[in-house]
Amino acid sequence: MFAYRHAFHAGNHADVIKHALALGCLKLMQQKEAAVMVVDSHAGSGLYRIGEALMRGRGEFPTGLAKLWPYRTAQMPELVQDYLQFVAGFNSSRSLEWLPGSPVMLARSLRSHDLLYAYEMHPSDHPLLQNNLSDYGRRVKSFRSDGFQSVMSLLPTVSKRAMFLVDPPYEDKRDYERTFVMVRDGLQRMSNTCFVVWIPMIARYDVERLLKRLQALAGEKLRIDLCVQPAALDGLGLTGSHVLVFTPPFGLQALCDEALPWLFKKLVQTPLDQAKKRGVLAPHFKVSLLPSQPLKTIKTVRQPSLSQTAYQRTARPRSSPSGLPSKPRARSSS
Ligand code: SAM
Repeated sequence: MFAYRHAFHAGNHADVIKHALALGCLKLMQQKEAAVMVVDSHAGSGLYRIGEALMRGRGEFPTGLAKLWPYRTAQMPELVQDYLQFVAGFNSSRSLEWLPGSPVMLARSLRSHDLLYAYEMHPSDHPLLQNNLSDYGRRVKSFRSDGFQSVMSLLPTVSKRAMFLVDPPYEDKRDYERTFVMVRDGLQRMSNTCFVVWIPMIARYDVERLLKRLQALAGEKLRIDLCVQPAALDGLGLTGSHVLVFTPPFGLQALCDEALPWLFKKLVQTPLDQAKKRGVLAPHFKVSLLPSQPLKTIKTVRQPSLSQTAYQRTARPRSSPSGLPSKPRARSSS
């Protein structure tokens, strides 16, 4: 259960888009004076050092932050600039050494009347998280408890304005169902909650199903897709991110429309013409505002997506009885 350690993945392309969006949402919400309750349901340890034992030779930051770092003083879209300046604040002016995780970034972004609650279950990562959040005073708390369950008792929040970052490892297949239940029930308790939900872009039925079910919930949502590499022929591996933002703060779509083309250009790993020859789903990005009305019907039958169909045609992977690739892997673990 505790195989997943975020240190391997810290600063990768998925962290980049997720952190830029979380910071962007909070900044926009803070344009109003009322306090914001911020919740990080799956926090990790909060701060990672390039060169630490867990990352040595295996860290994934070269796919993300390391690609952006050389541009930190250049002109770039606001969403990315804010994020990069934030990371720069943890580092000396020259080199990239520290990779802040979501709870530390969010803690540092709070105003004096905002609150942050962060949840982390891992027996080694929770003490690190506690230590990394210890400078931020009483408005920041960390808990070693199940983020899916514990956060429900916070809703509706006293402050009436809340932002939840939902970023489970998805190593356990049940995380897909738990994520859906958390967002559905959370919105029922407080319909204006801003949920920022990260979902891995991998060829897996659970991903398609979770996206469909979340999109069918009532309330406005912004969907951001960022695919930085074509699927491998065996269908394994993370090719990018889906992020669904429920109750997106006003202005977020414009920030994303501006940032995604720039980010995509910097993060894409395989030139597009090569990807078309080799891959089945070429790298791409998309920002879509989804309707606030619930969709009338949700198909829950097993139905391969277009990308999976194309992928199966090309790759012929090992198949399960459902016709979908068997034993897909979310994020690699230690
Ligand atoms: N949000 C972090 C960031 O962006 O820096 C990364 C979080 S990482 C993707 C997921 C974390 O959730 C892991 O550190 C894992 O130990 C933790 N975790 C797994 N199941 C959990 C649960 N039920 N409740 C709270 N934390 C959990």
